[in-house]
Amino acid sequence: MRLSDRVNAMRPSSTLAVTAKSKAMKAAGVDVVGLGAGEPDFDTPDHIKQAARDALDTGVTKYQPVAGTPDARQAVAEYMNDRHGFKAEPENVVISCGGKHALYLAFAAVCNPGDEVLLPSPYWVSYPEQAKLAGASVEVIQSRAADGFKITPEQLTAAITPRSRVLVINSPSNPTGAMYSPDELKALATVVAEHPQLLVFSDEIYERLVFGAHPFVSFAGLHPAVTERTITFNCLSKTYAMTGWRVGFTIGPADVIAAMSKLQSQMTSNITSFCLPAVRAALHGPQDAVESMRKAFAERAEHTHARLSAMPGVVCAKPSGAFYVFPDVSQAAFGKADPAGKVIRSASDFASSLLDHAKVAVVPGEDFGAPAHVRLSFAAAMEQIDKGVDRIEAFLEGLDDA
Ligand code: PMP
Ligand code: GLU
Repeated sequence: MRLSDRVNAMRPSSTLAVTAKSKAMKAAGVDVVGLGAGEPDFDTPDHIKQAARDALDTGVTKYQPVAGTPDARQAVAEYMNDRHGFKAEPENVVISCGGKHALYLAFAAVCNPGDEVLLPSPYWVSYPEQAKLAGASVEVIQSRAADGFKITPEQLTAAITPRSRVLVINSPSNPTGAMYSPDELKALATVVAEHPQLLVFSDEIYERLVFGAHPFVSFAGLHPAVTERTITFNCLSKTYAMTGWRVGFTIGPADVIAAMSKLQSQMTSNITSFCLPAVRAALHGPQDAVESMRKAFAERAEHTHARLSAMPGVVCAKPSGAFYVFPDVSQAAFGKADPAGKVIRSASDFASSLLDHAKVAVVPGEDFGAPAHVRLSFAAAMEQIDKGVDRIEAFLEGLDDA
């Protein structure tokens, strides 16, 4: 079958591919330790489930307004206003099928062919593919491990051209777990302020899962000149352990939100009707489950980082947020032979050999723009993390100099 050039040029999501593979192996009875999936191992808090059950029981089973019910949009606006000092109204909010589709709609709403998307690397796998689907070209800004995987204002200034349309900021970051301090973000906002054609996509979906030295601050409020040029993304997926529900939202200027809603009206319509009441239940209901999940992630971050860093040749930055560690395994493994005699030459080789021989699933760094690294998710029970890390240790010890 002749498929479109658009699809042929696109890479599939490697994060979802690894997650699917390890789940399939588990279902087939293989004792695999899945450290690939970027999803909390906790269940959705019951009061949120109850909101959806009540909605089903009271007949909320029909089409809803495309951008979300007035109450759900209002609930998001109130959350942003109370928590982050926004002045959002419901017209500044669109509710979409997960943070992922929200981002896709936004790229499609603001980019024309020839526009550039400035993408700090390492980056989440879907940004470049979504930007390219919108016809934009991707200009990677390579952050340095020595700078904590954060770009500097100088790097940003050097990357901006008259064609630069969007800067993507993801703090805390998937895949590195790095988080900008308020001052570091302010310095980037000051650079953005000088370039009126440039918008910022601030992907804040890990905002509540932070455990480093700095508090989280939302980008839009950092400089008066960027407030109207920042489009903020969030979702219920990670904070409330609701990855399967597919609830994401965008907060931004009313014209961008209207453009995204127009696109959504021709693509997916409203999100699942009975998930809409869950937005208020999640954002404005009891928050104790969020804090206990945050504490668990903080403990696991500390533990996973300490164990990986103790392995000879493994270089691992300490995460400050989200639930990922992103070690450089090149020194420990590249150029060495696995138990089948195959020489490991890349992160992909490493990940597939680790899965075959040690039965641990991790995501290789290539699609994050970091080919010396692999990503481990510590959104797994501590005993699973230890089992996985023990196996990685034994795997590395068993590699032969080729
Ligand atoms: N942004 C980042 C940085 C992510 O890691 C993810 C992964 N889930 C998303 C957006 C998309 O989130 P969702 O599952 O709500 O689509
Ligand atoms: N964001 C998660 C991850 O990076 C879930 C998978 C995806 O949507 O990419 O693993």
